[in-house]
Amino acid sequence: MAGIPFVEPLEGLVYGAVDQLSPLVARVVAQNPSKFTYKGTGTYIIGRDEVVVIDPGPTLDSHRTALERAIDGRRVRGIVVTHCHSDHVPLAYWLAESTGARTYGFGPHPRPTVTDAFDDDDDDVQDEKSSDTGDGEEREHTDFNFTPTVAVRDGQAFLTVDGWSLTAVHTPGHTSNHLCIHLDAENALFTGDHIMGWSTTVVSPPDGNMADYMASVRKLITRNDAVLYPTHGNPVRDPAPFLAAYLAHRVERESQIIELLQRGPSTIRAMVEVLYANVRPELHKPARRSVMAHLLKLLDEARVTTVNDRPPSMRSIWIVRNK
Ligand SMILES: [Zn+2]
Repeated sequence: MAGIPFVEPLEGLVYGAVDQLSPLVARVVAQNPSKFTYKGTGTYIIGRDEVVVIDPGPTLDSHRTALERAIDGRRVRGIVVTHCHSDHVPLAYWLAESTGARTYGFGPHPRPTVTDAFDDDDDDVQDEKSSDTGDGEEREHTDFNFTPTVAVRDGQAFLTVDGWSLTAVHTPGHTSNHLCIHLDAENALFTGDHIMGWSTTVVSPPDGNMADYMASVRKLITRNDAVLYPTHGNPVRDPAPFLAAYLAHRVERESQIIELLQRGPSTIRAMVEVLYANVRPELHKPARRSVMAHLLKLLDEARVTTVNDRPPSMRSIWIVRNK
């Protein structure tokens, strides 16, 4: 992940404490650290006398108590969900139930319609179960049942509170229903998992889509947001160079894949061994899904294909297409 100017680590983080990051924006971090969530899920509470909560977070008693304390009896005007991963959505049910507030999101996470041909669970029993450090799951879990009370669309100003408004920015890629949320009063963008403050984002097919993802990063590059608030990691206070590096990383990865394949046909497993040689082995499995995401984009662009044009899977042998 070279080349990305990561912001300062969450030093001095106290789980459950309320960090007031700006006049309107406060954050409480849940104690669910993992290789996907960094130090944990950052739940944002926007407002003064009345508040909106973005991504209430995981089912954890300590986090629920911390949110209650942070909200401190103020009226909750809305609950916004950036996407339906289980480190973001579960406490939305509780918060909606206990406050009567409506939930806002792009829509439910689409249920998979085909079996996941990109799963390689069964062929890595020997080489990974033993080396897994056990710091959580191999993949982010999804709540397919969550349906927002209000489905919002790209560009829609969907909530106005106390003189400030929130507008939806649809950013598919990490998931197809991923939303970023713009706060006009501070020209701030809540980026969910689309942009992370500490790492690159997981793009895992079939719902995760690399072409969409890169287009959604470009979409943010054309904006002029003053600050990005990711769910995981610290605020990005100089978005332009950060986003440029974030996109450059994906473009570079894509070129590396093409370069590898120009040397000869290869499998995802073999490519990951080379491309992620400096990365902890327990991250190779999510890395394989990320390389798959790149290959599916390149397949769509007719720049690579599989041997005999067989349907792509984790076992495919990939080759470059001569133009
Ligand atoms: Zn996520």
